[in-house]
This record gives sequence, C-alpha cells and structure tokens, in this order.
Amino acid sequence: MADSGESFDVVILGGGSGGYACALRAAELGLSVALVEKDKVGGTCLHRGCIPTKALLHAAEVADAARDAGQFGIKATLDGVDMSALNSYKDGVVARLYKGLQGLIKGRKVTVLAGHGRLVAPDTVEVAGRRYVGRHVVLASGSVAKSLPGLEVDGQRVLTSDEALRLETVPDRVVVLGGGVIGVEFASAWRSLGADVTIIEALPRLVAAEDPASSKAVERAFRKRGIAFKTGTPFRSVEKIDDGVKVTVESGDIFEADLLLVAVGRGPASQDLGYDDVGVAMDRGYVLTDERLRTNLPNVYAVGDLVPGMQLAHRGFAHGIFVAEDIAGLSPTPINESGIPRVTYCDPEVASVGLTEDAANERFGDDGVETLTYDLAGNGKSQILKTAGFVKLVRQVDGPVVGVHMVGARVGELVGEAELIVNWDAFPDDVASLIHMHPTQSEALGEAHLALAGKPLHAHS
Ligand SMILES: Cc1cc2nc3c(=O)[nH]c(=O)nc-3n(C[C@H](O)[C@H](O)[C@H](O)COP(=O)(O)OP(=O)(O)OC[C@H]3O[C@@H](n4cnc5c(N)ncnc54)[C@H](O)[C@@H]3O)c2cc1C
Repeated sequence: MADSGESFDVVILGGGSGGYACALRAAELGLSVALVEKDKVGGTCLHRGCIPTKALLHAAEVADAARDAGQFGIKATLDGVDMSALNSYKDGVVARLYKGLQGLIKGRKVTVLAGHGRLVAPDTVEVAGRRYVGRHVVLASGSVAKSLPGLEVDGQRVLTSDEALRLETVPDRVVVLGGGVIGVEFASAWRSLGADVTIIEALPRLVAAEDPASSKAVERAFRKRGIAFKTGTPFRSVEKIDDGVKVTVESGDIFEADLLLVAVGRGPASQDLGYDDVGVAMDRGYVLTDERLRTNLPNVYAVGDLVPGMQLAHRGFAHGIFVAEDIAGLSPTPINESGIPRVTYCDPEVASVGLTEDAANERFGDDGVETLTYDLAGNGKSQILKTAGFVKLVRQVDGPVVGVHMVGARVGELVGEAELIVNWDAFPDDVASLIHMHPTQSEALGEAHLALAGKPLHAHS
C-alpha cells in the first residue's frame, strides 16, 4: 500500500520539453507544481535529441569548413577528428543547459519528484511508493526510438540515435535505416566527419514529410557530397558479422558496414505507466486529446510527443505553456499545429512552415494554388557561402502565403520570418513592401515575395 504524499495544483508526469515547460509556466502563474522525472529534467531534446545532435552537426560543419577552406583562399587542412574532444564539447553544451534548466525549475519552486511515475487514479501519480494527488494531472512521458519487427537494437552495432550520440569513434562505414529527419541529420554529420554513409529508405524520397522540391534538392546535394541513398527500398534483415553488420533489403541487395543506425521514427512512451488501467483513451499508444489537450478523463491533460502530431521540442513547449494557462483559467487560444515550423539540420538545411504544394492543392484545388521558387543563385549572401538551394512559396490564389519551403545552408535561421508570414496570413504584397537587409539570406525571402507580388528584382520574370 503506497503512502499518501502531498497534493498539488498540477502533477506532471515527465520532465521533457512538454512537461518542464508546463511546470515553469504553471509555477509562474502561482500554481503549486510537482514534476515527476525518472531520468533527467530536459528529457529527450536536451539529453538525447535536439541539443546534442545539433552540437554534433556544428562540429561536422567545422570539419567541412576546414576541408573546404581552400575554396575561399584559406590554407587549412583537416588533420582528423578527435571524437573524445568533440564529445566533451557536445556534452559541455548539454551540461550547461541542464544546469541552467535545473536552476530555473528550482527558482520557480517546482517540486521535482525523482523516480518512475505511474498513474494510479485520474488525479494521482505514484512515485517510489508515495502517492501525489493533483487537482490536475499532465501526462508528458514523451517518446522513445522505434525499431522494426524482428530488428533487434543491441546498442553496439545496431544502434538508435541514443547510442549513436555516445560513439567514441567515427565509424568508417554506416548504414542508416530511415531517410527522415533523424536519419539524414546523422548521415550528414557522419559524412562530414569522414564516414562512408548509405541511407536506406522505404519511401520514394528522403525527408518525405517535406515538399517534394525540398527532397529533390537534398538528394542532389547528398549525391554531390558522396552520401549514398536507396529510396523505395524496404529493409529485410540485418546479420551481425565479425566486424560489423550485413544489411539485406527486399530486393536482395546487401550492404556491409560497421554500424546500422535504426532511424525509423519514434513511438509514444506510454507502456506500463497505468494510462490503460486508469482508462485514458489512447490510439496505438498515443494519448488522445481534444484541441485543448484534454484527455477523456476530467482534469487530465497530455502534451508533447505523447500526443499524435509532429514530434518537435517547440511543439512540446507550446503544449506545456498552453496547458498551464488553461489550468490557470487564462483561456488560451488553441494551438494551430499547421503553423509549427520544421527544420532538418543536415547540410544543406531544410526548413518549412505551413502547407506543401500537394497539401495546398488538396485544400484549395489545383487552380486555387500558386507557387514561386526563388533560386539562391540570385542571393548574394548564399553565393558568398557557396550554398545552393531555394525559397519556395505556396500561396492560395488571390490569398495569403500558406507555405514556405527552403533548402540551403543556414536556412533554418530564416524559418522565424517564414512562420510569421504564414501564421499572420500575410499576402505577398505585405512582405514585398518590407525591406530586407542586404546582403543576407533573409533577402531571398523578401525577393521571393517581390517576385510573387509581380515585381521581381534579382530574378527573371
Ligand atoms: C536524435 C533526435 C534529434 C531531435 N532533434 C530535434 C530538433 O532539432 N528540434 C526539435 O524540435 N525536436 C527534435 N527532436 C524531438 C524532440 O526531442 C522531442 O520532440 C521532444 O523532446 C519531446 O518532448 P516531450 O516532453 O514530449 O518528451 P521527452 O523529451 O521524451 O520527455 C519525456 C520525459 O518523461 C520522462 N518519463 C517517461 N516516463 C516516465 C515515468 N514513468 N516516470 C517519470 N518520468 C518519465 C522521460 O525520462 C523524459 O525525460 C529530436 C529527437 C531526437 C531523438
């Protein structure tokens, strides 16, 4: 029989992006908050996701800069990669942010309950034999890496992103199973660090959730970079051999490598957490909610990767803030999930917000959509950086811009402006009249809107 513990306004199960954002905002609004975390606050994003992968990718970019320095008239050579120093840099970034987050949580007087939490009643979470009652409960247990039936991850030669981030050497040859965001980011980083990489993807294109134009540009760039990929190629099996793995695909082709990275997506972390027993409505392990992120049980909410939709840290933050405000009675406006920006940080980067051309055609009809693609060849700063790519705008005919799709070095940093354009329903003229700094890559966004408004400057009409 568990002890009865304290009561709180909000008990949050899981301290990742969704859970801790909810905790911080709820505490800011004067609510008493308990945050249950079995590992480290910060969750996947901080410890095994966004932050360490982007540090790895930044180190990869530095390697490329050294290797390619001659193109810019600078004499430098890439003498090698010191993985242990790279890992210290990466882990140092994570450690500093972790410390900062712990300070924030403490400063806001959130009670952190360390241990494995379990929902034992709609208003009660049990942790280490004690029960904590919440006037509201927020499920925020996140997601874990998935595998395929019969494909066993051993953490040694068959890895998920969790183990891939802890490698102490750069593999010579890697097969990456999955050409989605996580797969192409690792493929890109490892290639820059010197590995031979082959991506195997069952779908017909890389980054298949993006506009086909973006996939095409990434594929072209990857070919140039020597990253091999097989699309439309379902995986069949993997066999461990003396010094690596032998991966067989449905066509019978075989790929040998030191490692296989399994990057076939992430599934909800909802097993053995009591959700089923207590009667939380779920679909394939995901917790179902309404647009106010309420589950079917009174006063029980769910946020982040656990809720069907895009698995992104900033979506989790937005969910967490929304739920805290809803609990505090601020009646926040429901989140528009289609306005959430997306970035894939491979080289070249892929950034987008809003509808792809196909999705817009489906919504407005083929005659109801107009697109414009501005080539980065016309953008001074992109030429200085020697990057190729484009800005593609998708607009409703006589209506606002409903989608922005970009490929090129550093375009991830442009998605902030793109999201304002799409979420504020801007018309091409609205943006065309704004003056963009020269020479910047953001000018490419301005120029694309000038062209779509019928007055192209550095573009052929
Ligand atoms: C390799 C990789 C790269 C990524 N890169 C990006 C990126 O660049 N940008 C981006 O936006 N997103 C990225 N993501 C996705 C991002 O990390 C997730 O969307 C985000 O972490 C989801 O937050 P969450 O709070 O829903 O879940 P999580 O971050 O998974 O947090 C859930 C927390 O709950 C805890 N927990 C689970 N069960 C229990 C329990 N029973 N008791 C107590 N605690 C429990 C876990 O320990 C964890 O800390 C990446 C993910 C990966 C794997």
